[in-house]
Amino acid sequence: QSQELSQAHIDYHVALQALQEHGTRMVCTGKMHTDRICRFDYLCYCSEAEEFVFFHSNSSVMLPNLGSRRFQPALLDLSSVEDHNTQYFNFLELPAATLRFMPKPVFVPDVTLILNRFNPDNLMHVFHDDLLPAFYTMKQFLDSDEDARLVFMEGWEEGPHFELYRLLSNKQPLLKEQLRNFGKLMCFTKSYIGLSKMTTWYQYGFVQPQGPKANILVSGNELRHFAKVLMEKMNITRAAGGEKDQGNAEDEKTKDEYIVVFSRSTTRLILNEAELIMALAQEFQMRVVTVSLEEQSFPSIVQVISGASMLVSMHGAQLITSLFLPPGAVVVELYPFAVNPDQYTPYRTLASLPGMDLHYIPWRNTEEENTVTHPDRPWEQGGIAHLEKEEQERIMASKDVPRHLCCRNPEWLFRIYQDTLVDIPSFLEVLQEGVKAKPLLKKSKLSSTLHPGRVRDPQCQTSVQTSNEAKLTVSWQIPWNLKYLKVREVKYEVWIQEQGENTYMPYILPQQNYTFSDNIKPFTTYLVWVRCIFNKNLLGPFADVLMCRT
Ligand code: UDP
Repeated sequence: QSQELSQAHIDYHVALQALQEHGTRMVCTGKMHTDRICRFDYLCYCSEAEEFVFFHSNSSVMLPNLGSRRFQPALLDLSSVEDHNTQYFNFLELPAATLRFMPKPVFVPDVTLILNRFNPDNLMHVFHDDLLPAFYTMKQFLDSDEDARLVFMEGWEEGPHFELYRLLSNKQPLLKEQLRNFGKLMCFTKSYIGLSKMTTWYQYGFVQPQGPKANILVSGNELRHFAKVLMEKMNITRAAGGEKDQGNAEDEKTKDEYIVVFSRSTTRLILNEAELIMALAQEFQMRVVTVSLEEQSFPSIVQVISGASMLVSMHGAQLITSLFLPPGAVVVELYPFAVNPDQYTPYRTLASLPGMDLHYIPWRNTEEENTVTHPDRPWEQGGIAHLEKEEQERIMASKDVPRHLCCRNPEWLFRIYQDTLVDIPSFLEVLQEGVKAKPLLKKSKLSSTLHPGRVRDPQCQTSVQTSNEAKLTVSWQIPWNLKYLKVREVKYEVWIQEQGENTYMPYILPQQNYTFSDNIKPFTTYLVWVRCIFNKNLLGPFADVLMCRT
């Protein structure tokens, strides 16, 4: 039933005729394969060949028309992971006339978003690589994104988190495997291919060691909006006592605040979890709840986390659930022995995005006697028995995993899959220090993140005093948006450059005009730029440059 594509919505013969006459049409955004998303009319998929097919006619459209550059290396990335050579998309070409010799196409009436999931087994990857990018790609391109059909082409089965993918639209997503069921040739009436990379904040280390992306374009606001929509779809209402209001944090203290320990039950264990829980309860005088993916449904975990004051967990994919923490909450991430917290920061980066309003504290096991290694496990769980004896010994002796690329570095896997006995005094000390350093929970008000507009009506007046003295008066009006805002501190920055010189003199001023006389020469042309600054660091744009001749 779920795979039934009601053919009633489209007139089969009209569709077939359109395809035969007009062929496929493609228009894309993006200059490079890494930032490209394409919209197609009548793109077809041949399940026998496992290839998408572009049918050419006299009126087919292909923008960009790249010629054979389409294969250098690909038209676009089908997943949100940048330029990964297993994730490239391309199509084959045929003349529309060949349709006569092919099986009758089945038309897909739904607007379709076609993509690759990157690693649907891993919760971090599910959110970071698939759900968030798909959510915002749908927002960008699809008018009624609720009714879009998602098609996953990576070729995996549903995976353990398929319920989450189902939340993105009202229609059941299709897997590559299922496309065969529609016949040998299926044609998507209207489809979008590719995923926006705008929301991703982390790169996994395929070309350089893993770390935050160089140019992060997402803030906590977009992530929290996504989290809110997802919670609504899961029928979760944020647990009471969660979000702290500015001002009455003290009253909140008396409410039911609690700490969540997210436990892993198969690998990378906390060996003294009970002791850790007791210590947390005692230290903060709060209830401590444990959750685990093995024991609870995902929605019930989100329900608990959405009301928590603190989330404590071993480094691992489950920490992506800090997306659902209330603003002001604390994230405590534990790292096994020899793993440097500064080098594996997907959750630290997430917590630190502006507008996430999370306080992040890493803790690292520095006591070798508190670690339990698993050299005899399979390599993908960190076993090293398959390595040369010498290499095994080197790894065992090393106290810090050196920088490395993804994904099969045995020393990294060996260390990251250790179990840890958390040293309670050192853990509490890190926590106390971290919480102390926590800035006063000023819930960042919207108005304190808004940027000034251009200053208006900038002008200059000049006068010559003597043969080597001159004055330059610059004035301007406040930016238009300022009259609607309460801004703590408004300042102006003025740059003055003598025409033809490479350097300029910058000034910061509190008022809307100023007369410069130091270093101002007679009979000289100065270029003057003015901009507004809110609260020390919110810079506005410069007004058009002024040419001022003394
Ligand atoms: N996982 C879990 N309990 C465990 C070990 C793993 O729930 O004891 C989950 C984990 O959250 C992730 C997936 O299984 O979604 C894969 O875990 P893995 O250790 O491979 O990845 P990592 O957590 O290091 O990203």
